[in-house]
Amino acid sequence: MRYAVLGTGIVGRTLAARLDGLGHPVVIGTRSPEATLGRAEYAEWQEVHPRVGLAGFAEAAREGGTLVNATGGRSGLAALSAAEPADLDGKVLLDVANPLDFAGGFPPLLDPVNDDSLGELLQRTFPRLRVVKTLNTMNCRIMVDPTLVPGPHHVFLSGEDADAKRSARTLLHAFGWEDPNILDLGGIETSRGTEMLLPAWLRLMTTLGHTDFNFHIQGA
Ligand code: NAP
Repeated sequence: MRYAVLGTGIVGRTLAARLDGLGHPVVIGTRSPEATLGRAEYAEWQEVHPRVGLAGFAEAAREGGTLVNATGGRSGLAALSAAEPADLDGKVLLDVANPLDFAGGFPPLLDPVNDDSLGELLQRTFPRLRVVKTLNTMNCRIMVDPTLVPGPHHVFLSGEDADAKRSARTLLHAFGWEDPNILDLGGIETSRGTEMLLPAWLRLMTTLGHTDFNFHIQGA
């Protein structure tokens, strides 16, 4: 499966590197490949991962059979709007982003929140996509290597399409997630809850002083 990871930040790069390591062709999407390659951090990472492509959002969405939203806040809307609608048709979008709004500093607010979520907003705006919200409730190093946190801990799935959730589950297995630790919460509206875990996650990061932790649902 060819993946298009929309997002050049640490999350996009971490997921792209892992997918590449698993043998999948991967292209990373960005607003401007030129500007992104001009960033020393990205250019150095690209040297270490020469097989991973870099393209504008529209081209990346065209190339990817499965898409991943790893953009900041609500930017997934702009990234996917750049794509030709036909290039989204029927594709799975794994949405690992959180609608964090840092305009007022730390801690950030969530926007949307309560009666809406980024997962729903993306599904509503791009009905041709099959959105699966997952992996947004942990640090990206743990997304792709759950053994970094000892003992059982959980990852959530939200989405409308059973087949799309099955493919997300298969990818999670490849990342190292054991099936009992993957909790399907139901439809895409359940993204509200997992996105609302972020304020708690951020406070835990401050309290613990590190990011190598995750939620374990006792009794699951
Ligand atoms: P980020 O800095 O939050 O986002 C970077 C990406 O967003 C870049 O690709 C950038 O495009 C794109 N972007 C920013 N403004 C945009 C705009 N106006 N229009 C279109 N695209 C725009 O990256 P990150 O820290 O890797 O986080 C990515 C997402 O994962 C976030 O939603 C975050 O909340 C979530 N998340 C992070 C972690 C973690 O471990 N850090 C864990 C769970 C979830 P360019 O490439 O063009 O600059």
